[in-house]
Amino acid sequence: MLSFATATPAQCAAPLISTAMSKSKPITAPLRASPNNPNYFTDGRGKAVYLTGSHTWNNFQDWGTDDSPQPFDFAANVKMLVAHHHNFTLLWQTELPVFRGLPTRANDSPDFFVTPQPWQRTGPGNASDGKLKFDLAKFNPAYFDRLRARVQQLDAAGIYAGVYLFSGEWLLRFRFSGDGYPLSGSNNVNGIDDGGGVGSVTMSAPNAITSIQDAFVRKLIDTLNDLPNVLWIVMDTTRADHLSAYGYQRPTTPNLDAIAAEGTLFENAIAQAPWTVPSHFQMVTSRYTAGRQSILDSDFVTAAEMLKANGYETGAVLANFLLGRRSGFEQGFDKVVDGPVTIFCLSVLEKIPVIKALLKLNIFPSNAVIGLLDRKEFLEGAGARADAVNEQAARWIERQGSQPFFLFINYMDPHDPYDPPQPFRDRFAGGVDPVLGFVRYSPRLGRSISSGQFVRDVLPKLSPQDLAKIVALYDAEIAYLDDRIGRLVSVLKARGLYDHTILVVTADHGELFGEHGLANHMKSLSEEEIHVPLIMRYPSAIPPGRRVATPVELSCILPTLLELLGIPPQTALDGRSLLPLVQEAAVGQDGFGDTFSFLIRRPDRSYPHTAPGHLIGLRTAAFKYVWSSTGRNAYYDLLKDPHAEHNLYGDGVDIASAEQRLADWRKKAGFENIDADERLDRLTTERLRALGYVQ
Ligand SMILES: [Zn+2]
Repeated sequence: MLSFATATPAQCAAPLISTAMSKSKPITAPLRASPNNPNYFTDGRGKAVYLTGSHTWNNFQDWGTDDSPQPFDFAANVKMLVAHHHNFTLLWQTELPVFRGLPTRANDSPDFFVTPQPWQRTGPGNASDGKLKFDLAKFNPAYFDRLRARVQQLDAAGIYAGVYLFSGEWLLRFRFSGDGYPLSGSNNVNGIDDGGGVGSVTMSAPNAITSIQDAFVRKLIDTLNDLPNVLWIVMDTTRADHLSAYGYQRPTTPNLDAIAAEGTLFENAIAQAPWTVPSHFQMVTSRYTAGRQSILDSDFVTAAEMLKANGYETGAVLANFLLGRRSGFEQGFDKVVDGPVTIFCLSVLEKIPVIKALLKLNIFPSNAVIGLLDRKEFLEGAGARADAVNEQAARWIERQGSQPFFLFINYMDPHDPYDPPQPFRDRFAGGVDPVLGFVRYSPRLGRSISSGQFVRDVLPKLSPQDLAKIVALYDAEIAYLDDRIGRLVSVLKARGLYDHTILVVTADHGELFGEHGLANHMKSLSEEEIHVPLIMRYPSAIPPGRRVATPVELSCILPTLLELLGIPPQTALDGRSLLPLVQEAAVGQDGFGDTFSFLIRRPDRSYPHTAPGHLIGLRTAAFKYVWSSTGRNAYYDLLKDPHAEHNLYGDGVDIASAEQRLADWRKKAGFENIDADERLDRLTTERLRALGYVQ
């Protein structure tokens, strides 16, 4: 973009070329310097664009010889440009609210009063022009609203707009003691002073002035680009406490650590369900009842649909085939790339009797069997590794034009089998037998056993040492994924999109490694399964380095995005925007801190190797209460028992308030009756069977 930190005011009359679209000849990108000859612009299609136009000094700010400047007739101005076949104009601005010294009137009283300015005039106290001092921490909406409106007007008329960031020239020529110049120490309430602002000032290092200028330019770009891109990343099966960003002792996530330092991290983000389908469905709709669907009904309005309706290009790259085509999750996406297409081809191969027989004979070395069969079965084959996902994602991003985009990515790597690529395997699990990562695979059966069977037959025989090695492999998978998220961020940075992209990183659920006598997920509402990472980065609106301790739900992501984008929700949402929490305004207020989760299973099946019954839980900062349809409820004091290991239910603990809050929620959220209508769609059942979650 533009370098202004070292420019002298007199030199920084650098126009920012913004987008504009000719009706007869639509362009796909903003003007850029032509790579062939930087004296010319190009619109991205390789041809030089010939600009012709005119401007007048007061075509953006109103000027007047007294304190009530006459409004400029901008519509007439645009009409004039069109009539003269112009395709360019410059929206002029001056930093001086009042100025004096035009050559013809050098010694007169002030020449012109100029409004609006980029910052609000709040006081306390008056600036040198007699009006309230500026607050440089508060932008003036009137300024930016007008900027947006005028650029849009030009856009509609097929005229490119240049926007001044800093005029500079006015500071050099027209300052006087009563000019009210905002960056003079006596004219703002922030104690910021540019040391005169007259003549040539060279600022070679970031300082208070350049940070004000940074913020102004960022706000201006956000105003003109209007809607930022959205990149929503789900790390399937990633529990929060295995990320170094969440205090894990192993350095698993240096890239996410950096993203968290530049954004806001939610220390207690709670997934609404401990498995992929309900967690994703409710996450992207912010409707709890969506989490009770096995194929997402088209009546639900998804994030992709809402953003698409607001001009977004929408795309999804999904490694987990539970979300693939025909799951209902694809609604609203212009483009869906699901790696499992590859997997389906492999699965057909495996059904060819000869190949199946060869596999059963166990004549291949175990690694080869794993490579041939198990990777297929667990959907983490060539089509679904983070590398492959990134390739698809980067290709999609490269294709985007000037419209904002929404890209949803599901990475599957931390899901079992735990088969980390190098160098992460050596770094975190050096010397560990790779076969341990395929612990659910049975060479005797020639296939993987179900997750429930694994808990019943294999888990009790695993030594603590073996479990620790499996965890090391899992950690290495997380580290690999973190590295690849870093690479995807580099793609955005290289295209200059990173700061203009709202980045959300989360997980749909966690994973168990023998805690509570359970393994994998979809087993309970344990902390290991529902406490997930949630990090958001968007420099224009989300403060850097903030860590929010208040428990929040994944159902809050969508309302937060909508508020950031200024898009009113098309339908009622169950979650609420996290922005007040991020901005610390909502701490201690009602409505945050109670989080709800559920695990509803088919009533006609038994789930013997999981926590019993349908489960509905209330989890706060202080406690976790889990209601079970079998009556085997649980209550944990999280302040004394952060891993929720000691069930206090029935021990005389007063849970009346927890019960009431859960009952209220069930009524409100549509979870009063849960036995009648839980039916898994046949395709979802097939897919779950392939993943090993049902038999
Ligand atoms: Zn999942």
